[in-house]
Amino acid sequence: MKFYDYLIVGAGLFGATFAYMAKRQGKSCLVIDKRPHLGGNIYCENIEGINVHTYGAHIFHTSNKEVWDFVNSIVEFNRYTNSPVANYKGKLYNLPFNMNTFYQMWGTRTPEEARRKIEEQKREAVEAMKAAGVEEPRNLEEQAISLIGKDIYEKLIKGYTEKQWGRKCTELPAFIIKRLPVRLTFDNNYFNDKYQGIPIGGYNKLIDGLLEDVESRCNTDFFTDREHFESIADKIVFTGKIDEYYHYRFGKLEYRTVRFETEVLDCENYQGNAVINYTEQEVPYTRIIEHKHFEFGQQSKTVISREYSSEWKEGSEPFYPVNDDKNSALYAQYRELANQEPNVIFGGRLAEYKYYDMHQIIAAVFNKYFS
Ligand code: FAD
Ligand code: UDP
Repeated sequence: MKFYDYLIVGAGLFGATFAYMAKRQGKSCLVIDKRPHLGGNIYCENIEGINVHTYGAHIFHTSNKEVWDFVNSIVEFNRYTNSPVANYKGKLYNLPFNMNTFYQMWGTRTPEEARRKIEEQKREAVEAMKAAGVEEPRNLEEQAISLIGKDIYEKLIKGYTEKQWGRKCTELPAFIIKRLPVRLTFDNNYFNDKYQGIPIGGYNKLIDGLLEDVESRCNTDFFTDREHFESIADKIVFTGKIDEYYHYRFGKLEYRTVRFETEVLDCENYQGNAVINYTEQEVPYTRIIEHKHFEFGQQSKTVISREYSSEWKEGSEPFYPVNDDKNSALYAQYRELANQEPNVIFGGRLAEYKYYDMHQIIAAVFNKYFS
């Protein structure tokens, strides 16, 4: 029986980057994944010549030059810039919150007019917080209103967020919304990062490049033959769910999952943009993705996916960790156990129970294990 330096559980971006770096150091790795394909959540399926983001839209963005140079050394990236549009009750607003959004919302034309309007919109909430002796926003609602005011909160944030997370904005952590830029310029770029794009030819090229010459097995679940897998390598890199690794001994961590309703349409251009968010509560999906626009596709047909968010249940995909107080405390208990395992590395969104973006995953592999 072959013996490896590393058994890597999970062929997502964490596992694949780890394998690539370990291989460069001359280490032997076996990568296993329970899914029928490699790539984890960045895997794409080709439908009608279009790379369909099977597990949700993925846009690579980073300000970390080392990470950007690294991914570009594996596959060239295009110049796609994410500029989602929000649809609230049939009216369209540019995202993130910028001079275009403010014009569409209030008719303000200059940064000074917009700044004054935002101040007026925030005043009530900020004063209420002061009166209550609250210095920092305690939840997503307070954070959003003190950042951008009540109109935008009510039309573009509240419904979308409550659909996505299945919890009231007052019960969600403030940090979730801090990701979104607020700008007094006419700039619809969703990210502030220096670099952004989509791999030319799709994300599978990135994964194939990372896992080139690495032994890998799909349709292979670590837990179906745990004893065997634990005996074939010096170390295990585990990127699955940390609570599952410990047989849920303290209870189950909560996740949000997304159901994708994907359709091939016999038209060239359905919505004119890759991402349109539906921000009102009454529309059951959160957004519609039109995949061809990520790669400026010219195909005669198009593929769209409606995204429906719900609570994770056994059998569905655990996508978003719910980093509220209850789950954070539970995760800390599992982390305590993980810290006592010298031969197991827990990494990635599921094993670290962290809302990691792709560039952060790569940076984490570099900084923690290969610096
Ligand atoms: P995963 O990709 O989840 O990989 C883990 C792998 O482990 C999976 O393939 C799973 O099958 C496997 N596995 C689990 N348990 C076992 C087991 N017992 N045995 C064998 N295999 C197992 N990031 C961005 O930067 N930009 C975006 O636009 C963006 N959009 C996103 C949209 C959605 C809907 C989601 C969910 C995430 C998004 N992300 C985005 C985040 C991005 O997907 C992650 O940062 C990254 O893919 C995480 O990689 P990972 O390896 O940690 O996890
Ligand atoms: N958000 C919102 N309205 C939108 C888009 C995003 O309120 O139209 C909020 C929502 O709470 C979401 C957060 O901003 O969870 C972060 O959005 P992002 O698009 O970064 O989330 P992703 O789905 O990419 O993780």
